[in-house]
Amino acid sequence: MADVDVDQIADWLGRAKDVISEQRAYLTELDSAIGDADHGSNLSRGFTAVVDKLASSTPETISGVLKSSGMTLVSTVGGASGPLYGTMLLRMAGAAGDTATITPERLAAALRAGLDGVVARGKAELGDKTMVDALGPAVSAFEQSIADGKDASAAAEAGAAAAAAGRDATKPLIARKGRASYLGERSAGHLDPGAASVTLLLGALAAALSER
Ligand code: ADP
Ligand code: MG
Repeated sequence: MADVDVDQIADWLGRAKDVISEQRAYLTELDSAIGDADHGSNLSRGFTAVVDKLASSTPETISGVLKSSGMTLVSTVGGASGPLYGTMLLRMAGAAGDTATITPERLAAALRAGLDGVVARGKAELGDKTMVDALGPAVSAFEQSIADGKDASAAAEAGAAAAAAGRDATKPLIARKGRASYLGERSAGHLDPGAASVTLLLGALAAALSER
C-alpha cells in the first residue's frame, strides 16, 4: 500500500486552513449556541498561522511538519481547542517518526496517539459532547480500514464519515466538559463545535490523501 509523504501532510494542514476559514461562520454559530462564539475565529487564526509558519520554513519530515504546526496552534489559539488540537498534532509528531514518508499503518498509529493526547489533556470521555466524540470514531474507522487492507485515502474517507456521524450524535447530548458544560441540560439540542471542526479536519485529510 502506498506510503504517505510529507507533502501530503503539509497539504492536509493547508486544506484544513482553507475549509476552516470557509466554515468559520458555521463553527462560530455552533459555538454561539453553547459556548462563547469564538471557535471559528480561534481555529481560523490558528490554522492560518500554521500555514504561514510552514510557508516560511517547511520541515523535511512528517514529524517536523506536525511538531511545528502543533506548537503554532498551542501558541496562537487562546481557547480550549488550541491546546487540544496542538497536543493532537504534537503527539502525532512523536508517533510519526522523523522521516519524509510513513506507512498507512504508522499514520493510523499516529492518529491514535493524537487522540490519546487529546484525552490525556482534556479528560473527556466518549459521550461528553466534545471533539473526542468525532475524533474517537474517526481514528477507529481509520484503523479498521487499514486493517482491512484499504489504502490511506480510503481510510481517511472512512474516518471522515465516522467523524460526521460522531458529530451528529453529539446533538442530543448534555455537555460534561468545556465551556458548554456550564449550561447543563441546556447544552442538549445543539451540535458540539469541536466535533464539527474535527469533521472538517478529517475531510481535509481525505482530500489531501486522495491526491498523489
Ligand atoms: P473555548 O471553549 O475555550 O471557547 P473553543 O470554542 O475554540 O474554545 O473550542 C470549544 C470546543 O473545544 C468544544 O466544542 C469541545 O469540542 C472542545 N473541548 C472543550 N473542552 C474540552 C475537553 N476538556 N476535552 C475535549 N474537548 C474539549
Ligand atoms: Mg469558544
